[in-house]
Amino acid sequence: MLYGSYFAQALDRLHEERRYRVFADLERLAGRFPHAIWHSPQGARDVVIWCSNDYLGMGQHPKVVAAMVETAGRMGTGAGGTRNIAGNNHPLVELERELADLHRKDGALVFTSGYVSNQTGIATIARLIPNCLILSDALNHNSMIEGVRQAGTEKKIFRHNDMAHLEELLVAAGDRPKLIVFESLYSMDGDIAPVHMICDLAERYRAMTYCDEVHAVGMYGPRGGGICERDGALARVDVVEGTLAKAFGCLGGYITGSRELIDAVRSYAPGFIFTTALPPAICAAAAAAIRHLKTSNLERERHQDRAARTKVVLTTAGLPVMPSETHIVPVLVGNPEKCKAATDLLLERHGIYIQPINYPTVPRGLERLRITPSPYHEDALIDALAAALVDVWETLGLPLHSRAAAAE
Ligand code: PLP
Repeated sequence: MLYGSYFAQALDRLHEERRYRVFADLERLAGRFPHAIWHSPQGARDVVIWCSNDYLGMGQHPKVVAAMVETAGRMGTGAGGTRNIAGNNHPLVELERELADLHRKDGALVFTSGYVSNQTGIATIARLIPNCLILSDALNHNSMIEGVRQAGTEKKIFRHNDMAHLEELLVAAGDRPKLIVFESLYSMDGDIAPVHMICDLAERYRAMTYCDEVHAVGMYGPRGGGICERDGALARVDVVEGTLAKAFGCLGGYITGSRELIDAVRSYAPGFIFTTALPPAICAAAAAAIRHLKTSNLERERHQDRAARTKVVLTTAGLPVMPSETHIVPVLVGNPEKCKAATDLLLERHGIYIQPINYPTVPRGLERLRITPSPYHEDALIDALAAALVDVWETLGLPLHSRAAAAE
């Protein structure tokens, strides 16, 4: 049998649907974010990154880098095995304490990624609740969808952030146990969940709540505890999940919750039990980032300021900036080929790196550039981005609003 043809056909399908992904070969430069080197087919070139999820630039913060280097020098590189085999490495214990404190919960459990924490966390929690019905927001991330699927319990999908629909489903479910899973900040549109309203419904219909704060931790709330902290809802949400890989600039994911829940997931979740723990150096670096952001608001303030300025400058230039309540700046292209062509032109002609966002990450027809300004994107970089985007829009014949109308 020619097994290779299956893979070739699968790739052909992606090419036909314009969904084949190409990754740029990039080298980030600590101390010079958001500047990086692009190892292009023609050789190395300086570029500016405009789509990183290292939202606050903590991946280059001296305290975070120093913690990683110092810990690796002292404790070596790997964790030495699963926690069952190797025990808890001490920086991991300290990291879990930091996280429990960040979200004001009894306990925290760290996984090797945010993806794994949702996948194995949701599945395990739901499986431990007899006859559990999962109610899941329609726009939840793939890792949550996989968690729901692996739970193997019944599920209902409620329309995105639609409280009337959620209530309808809760009423129809009757008195059985229910778990509502949702994100606090949806990263493709930059909109926010009505956390208190979800908690009101959860209390009224006796459901548990599980909130993914991956795109909010570090960035929102007075100590970086996310949207639940910002909105004063931490005590109302049963499980807060997050990542160490975005605003905290490292790698790994976690859940926080009650002592029994954390202990039960630790004891039953295959995605926790059967995989090697995070290395001590990564744990120490993540803990340094969390500690710093608990007391420093500088990064959060500058981040919001940069995002607000980027939105104004791009809108004034006539670009179709989609409405967003948060630090995410989506710019609509509405066509997969043009979206890819726009990002190629930005990189090759202007030295600007932005990844195209096409189906299935967003619905067809809503293909976009997802721009993420950081505290390090100076005014001059924002102005250069606007000029480059206008050039690309004109080159590709994409519609621009009249500048006068955009400025109104
Ligand atoms: N949850 C959401 C909403 C995400 O967008 C992502 C990834 O981007 C994840 C979870 C997975 O987190 P991680 O990148 O740490 O695996």
